[in-house]
Amino acid sequence: MFETLGNRLQGVFDRLRGRGALSEADVSDALREVRVALLEADVALSVVKDITARVRERAVGQEVIRSIQPGQQVIKIVNDALVEALGGNDPGPRGISLEAAAPVAILMVGLQGSGKTTTSGKIALRLKGRERKKVLLASLDVHRPAAQLQLAQLAERAEVTSLPIIAGQTPLQIAERAMDLGRRELYDVVILDTAGRLSIDEALMAEVAAVKQAVTPHETLLVVDAMTGQDAVNTARIFNERVGVTGIVMTRVDGDARGGAALSMRAVTGAPIKLLGAGEKLDALEDFHPDRIANRILG
Ligand code: GDP
Repeated sequence: MFETLGNRLQGVFDRLRGRGALSEADVSDALREVRVALLEADVALSVVKDITARVRERAVGQEVIRSIQPGQQVIKIVNDALVEALGGNDPGPRGISLEAAAPVAILMVGLQGSGKTTTSGKIALRLKGRERKKVLLASLDVHRPAAQLQLAQLAERAEVTSLPIIAGQTPLQIAERAMDLGRRELYDVVILDTAGRLSIDEALMAEVAAVKQAVTPHETLLVVDAMTGQDAVNTARIFNERVGVTGIVMTRVDGDARGGAALSMRAVTGAPIKLLGAGEKLDALEDFHPDRIANRILG
């Protein structure tokens, strides 16, 4: 188990206890711990610098140095800076937006194995259950033979409809057929699960971009695996540059990922993290709470 940032910081201040007022150098010591802990938690260097600068500014200028429990105060300042970096102060809803003419298209993009198909099923289940929406699921993955069947099975478990499979169609044809059916049969939401690859390649990006242009989805959700740390951040940056994403879903937060990728993700793409995947089951989808991720990093 790694030492949490909270413990590290408390350690610094415990060592200083009884020395009366803290000096600016003491705050610098604490900041060094913050820096190391954030880097260990997989936060990108540029983001680490930004956060430590913010904390320094607030910690130095304030009463912290003279307070009775400086450790707790600095920890609170760090916590606030983390929540801010995670988009905590953003106005507006963080969940999926359905404020568009029906059928609302949601395009799911990401690398293979990120949890994209599972997340499509989870979102379908949530929209059907919580929001009483009529949802159509369609897999545009013509590269992996089992992909369309996998989504059809998920749809069955979520008790929503999946687009009938027609062999030989291109992703664009499938997307258009899904939207057609969505319009004809008055679906509220059409979730389009695109193909993923093991790594980012030009063909994947071109395919996703073409589908996006054809269906102009209301949401383009990038699914990334929290366990892949910095790789997830690079994936997010490239998808955002090439395709444009409106939100991010981080999966496998049930694992022991330290949450640092979430911090970087937000800073690198500017796109909000909208949902978290926290398990293999279809109901393991959570709303994103910046304070929980901050707590996870801070410990
Ligand atoms: P895709 O290739 O991106 O469509 O990925 P899949 O949806 O097929 O998921 C790959 C594997 O990850 C499957 O075994 C899923 O059950 C699993 N998975 C997906 N999301 C999560 C999650 O949030 N937590 C955990 N532990 N496993 C997940």
